[in-house]
Amino acid sequence: MSKKYVYLFTESDASMRNLLGGKGANLGEMLKLGLPVPEGFTVSTEACTRFYEDGKQISKEIQAEILKALSVLEKRSGKKFGDINNPLLLSVRSGARASMPGMMDTILNLGLNDKTAEGLAKLTNNPRFAYDSYRRFIMMFGEVVMGVDMAHFDEIFDARKEEKGVADDAGLNADDMIYISNAFLKKYKEVKGEPFPQDPVEQLLAAVAAVFRSWDNPRAHTYRRLNNIPYDWGTAVNVQIMVFGNMGDDSGSGVAFSRNPATGENEFFGEYLFNAQGEDVVAGIRTPHQIAELEKDNKEVYDEFKDIAHKLEKHYKDMQDLEFTIERGKLYILQTRAGKRTAQAAIKIAVDLVKEGLLTEKEALLSLDPRQLDHLLHPTFNAKVLAKETPIGSGLAASPGAAYGRIALSAEEAQKLVDKTGEPVILVRIETSPEDIEGMHVAAGILTARGGMTSHAAVVARGMGKCCVAGADGVVINEEAGTVLINGKKFKTGDYLSLNGTTGNIYAGKIETEEPTVSGEFAVVMGWADKYRALEVRTNADNPHDAAVAKGFGAAGIGLCRTEHMFFESDRIKSVREMIVAKTVEDREKALAKLLPIQRQDFVEIYKVMDGLPVTIRFLDPPLHEFLPHTEAEIRDLAKDLKMPYEELNETVEALREINPMLGHRGVRLSLTYPEIAVMQTRAVIEAAIEVTKKGIKVKPEIMIPLVGEVRELTYVKDYVVKTADKLIKDAGVKLDYSVGTMIEIPRATLLADEIAREAEFFSFGTNDLTQMTFGFSRDDAAKFLGDYYNKQIFTLDPFAHIDQKGVGKLMEVAVRLGKEARPDIHLGICGEHGGDPMSVEFCHKIGLDYVSCSPFRVPIARLAAAQANIKNPRK
Ligand code: PEP
Ligand code: MG
Repeated sequence: MSKKYVYLFTESDASMRNLLGGKGANLGEMLKLGLPVPEGFTVSTEACTRFYEDGKQISKEIQAEILKALSVLEKRSGKKFGDINNPLLLSVRSGARASMPGMMDTILNLGLNDKTAEGLAKLTNNPRFAYDSYRRFIMMFGEVVMGVDMAHFDEIFDARKEEKGVADDAGLNADDMIYISNAFLKKYKEVKGEPFPQDPVEQLLAAVAAVFRSWDNPRAHTYRRLNNIPYDWGTAVNVQIMVFGNMGDDSGSGVAFSRNPATGENEFFGEYLFNAQGEDVVAGIRTPHQIAELEKDNKEVYDEFKDIAHKLEKHYKDMQDLEFTIERGKLYILQTRAGKRTAQAAIKIAVDLVKEGLLTEKEALLSLDPRQLDHLLHPTFNAKVLAKETPIGSGLAASPGAAYGRIALSAEEAQKLVDKTGEPVILVRIETSPEDIEGMHVAAGILTARGGMTSHAAVVARGMGKCCVAGADGVVINEEAGTVLINGKKFKTGDYLSLNGTTGNIYAGKIETEEPTVSGEFAVVMGWADKYRALEVRTNADNPHDAAVAKGFGAAGIGLCRTEHMFFESDRIKSVREMIVAKTVEDREKALAKLLPIQRQDFVEIYKVMDGLPVTIRFLDPPLHEFLPHTEAEIRDLAKDLKMPYEELNETVEALREINPMLGHRGVRLSLTYPEIAVMQTRAVIEAAIEVTKKGIKVKPEIMIPLVGEVRELTYVKDYVVKTADKLIKDAGVKLDYSVGTMIEIPRATLLADEIAREAEFFSFGTNDLTQMTFGFSRDDAAKFLGDYYNKQIFTLDPFAHIDQKGVGKLMEVAVRLGKEARPDIHLGICGEHGGDPMSVEFCHKIGLDYVSCSPFRVPIARLAAAQANIKNPRK
């Protein structure tokens, strides 16, 4: 039997999500539940894959299946596609496996042409409706399918509104709509050089192809990359009988959520517009009404809708986002899906659903996206500072959090400003559209003049966890002049603005923000995560402040203290430079003697903060290009300190410069050449430990040697470490335990991990370097060309952000197996950037690591990801 590519909604259900996309599968499921859903069919995601295989063509067999499904719709509706007297009209909408709001295309009112529009006007006795639908169709089909610039249509539409002196489309009558439709058709012919397609079947096939093509558009690529959605999933296309929200004042369209998506409160929440089609609400064309007003206008429909929302929420055990249309007083549901929500809302909903008995703790944990927790850990304004500030304007509190930044008026400008100043940016737009996604991504906050809580800006900002104030009508933007007026106060591009996405307030200037803490429902969820996870979560911290923050977020120790980072401050870096450029052992020891007390004191502070929790201290690993003096001024400065002629120092610096510093004289190689460095660091680590032990604070330092590729490198350095440490401990007469281990970050080390494990008490995978050296991609340069890898679908994910499980992961698995063979109780962890990435955490769980270590703000994310990993794949 040949493959089936097209499914009627009556043949589908929620279990078919991968094949039919979320929208299609849920429409089938809702029909099964007996809900009022207009009938239709889904062209599958496999048809999308086939479309690309066939050179972006819909094959004859798929076309035949589409037409067959269409004839079923005709029979069931009693209408005919293209019939002048009683035309069947369709909506054509994308629907991928994972929802990608606004990223792909939609075409409504398909099947209209000069004749059916006239027929529809007669049939309904409502020419305004018929020609409003036709002009919408010409616009959408023209833009989405045929690539006509929307500005052509907007110009005509706006001119007519101005001529008639009306503010929005609601003020236009039937004659206006007829006039606009004709003007659109004329413009279309002018731009395309051929008349607007009149054949409905041709329209349908072209629209399906356009939706498939939209899977490949740049904004969809960007969205997928940001959300880890694989390219090869493809999108399905849903073809559904149109119902009309633009049939008059007893009709309307809107979007609603079964709970508040911003706060998670259990309240029915949404917006709608009278006499409008669904796109109007999302596009922010008119300012919508609150759904509560529908209760006043039509209580029966409101109650029915609210009931359905609750029913669906119970059915899916999750907060739902619904699209609906009311056609002459009758309610239709056009979509349901798990609603996008802020991190606060996600946590509150998860905790509430457990309380309500709808979810178990484990299910609640699995319902959360660990990456989203990041949003909770974003800053708020300092309350004291804020109390002294007066808002200069306000809008809707569309996405919570606080941000300040320099004003940018376009996505491009936002990117440029960030590149140029390195400072945060606030993107200020009339309204945003999917083209703005890159700019929204780089911005710290988003402010729009138009649009509601379900506008593009609001929805996307919430998804990204960006603070957003939307629909601030006191904001007037002049992009050309580079200015913004906020309630009469003038700002220029680059000026500072502060936004409070939790209250909707806008402030002039820069209001300092502060970091959040873990409490309330967040703490409840974290408690569950700790109950169900097997992996320990540590942090990468190089100073007492970061260590304290991480401990507050639940870190069980420090997995990586990069000692070279302790010297970044200007007064300290000099001593490191002095050490690097030293030509004799004496000179080096002199420099090291300056570093010793500084480092010892830092360790004392860190031990105190961690108070008995393990602290892994990695010995110096300074890629020389990060530490050598760069400018002439820096070299002169250092020469002065060293009482050395500039020329001589300059020569030394030049001689030290490496062509490939990431593969240069760093890591264990440094201590191999200059063992006195390892000796000094051992002294700092152990002397500090002795000092705090004497004060009754427990401490167990773990000394970690970086960049080992050959066991004898480790043996050589370890020998200095052990001799120095043991003597210090013996002389001090204290009881102090320490261990020596290594990082596994060179491919050779993974292959010889058994040999290395005989010397190392622990392994910590340095997956930054391991990725660099496995791929042969420079960590510092890869970003410049990885974009091409994504665009050409060679990679979907950044291997520096998510462990490449196939290659790098395989090496890790080998190292784990060999390491355990040689030393069964070896302690295994990871401290590369991947340690805070949920997908990588799951992988680390699966291959049997004991812990992950990540930056302080990712500790809660890793705790949740570790719990999810253990719920999905329980450890024995
Ligand atoms: C690593 O390579 O993964 C690592 C943690 O070390 P660094 O990033 O300091 O090279
Ligand atoms: Mg490294």
